[in-house]
Amino acid sequence: MLTLTLLVMQRGKYDAVTQKGHLPVLIPTSAEQREGWTTFTQELGPPESVRMLKNSDLKNARKHLTEWEAQHLHAIIALIQALQKPADSIALTRATEAVTKAHELQRVQRSDRRLTAGLDPKAEADLGHALAHLIGLPPQQAIEHFERLRPGPRASQDPRWLLSYEVSMELDDARLVLWWSEDGLKPAIWCPAMRAGFYARALLSAVSAKGLRICPHCGEPFLQERSDQDYCSVAHREAYRVARWRSQQKKAPISKGSKGGRLKPSQKQAKLEWWNGEGKLRKARERGRKKESRS
Ligand SMILES: [Zn+2]
Repeated sequence: MLTLTLLVMQRGKYDAVTQKGHLPVLIPTSAEQREGWTTFTQELGPPESVRMLKNSDLKNARKHLTEWEAQHLHAIIALIQALQKPADSIALTRATEAVTKAHELQRVQRSDRRLTAGLDPKAEADLGHALAHLIGLPPQQAIEHFERLRPGPRASQDPRWLLSYEVSMELDDARLVLWWSEDGLKPAIWCPAMRAGFYARALLSAVSAKGLRICPHCGEPFLQERSDQDYCSVAHREAYRVARWRSQQKKAPISKGSKGGRLKPSQKQAKLEWWNGEGKLRKARERGRKKESRS
């Protein structure tokens, strides 16, 4: 029992599947990784193996996605992040532009699957005209919205509408289920494909203080364990800090003897060593003191 408790605790710390109050997101899996069965579907064949979505799945998201799908997921995470910090209007503009770019790529990569592919020009024009009247976009764009290749006019005007539309449309096949898992009955979001699982996680993180973020070092998504966590791991936080420091050193103007001047390689090394040893400790102590004074 103790081993089991420890295992659960470790998983919670390093590769969390759920956050407090969050629904588990269920995805299909192999027999080796199985955490349960599809106890919530009709018995039209043998049940499928399922497991909960983990942080490491997010980190490897690209493996399961095409190029435009990966771009879209990253743009959606950036949009969630920007909407959670309303003061940062630049981040919001960048995120909405990234969603637009992902759809541009989607239209190129999925041009073979267009509804209008087999239509003669007259029929396409008629369809475009009818949809333009209904949707309020020019005929060609109205067809693209109908084909789910671009957001509609209202979503394009308002980032919150856009996020609501984009995330929800990706969850067409997902549904809320009551799952009989190893530790009892629990509600869950069942996603028959991994991709929908990522959007289910995005949906949950959009309404949580601890959300999905993109790590500035590796550029991959991760689920925060604390609301102030900006990097996927401590290693990536340190690597990014060192890289940033190095690039600042390169950019800094050479001024003899002044504080901001360029350091000799030996001085740089000394500064780094100080930071890796004493500096980090001092920061940690300062944080501890702040915490104490707050509580
Ligand atoms: Zn990272």
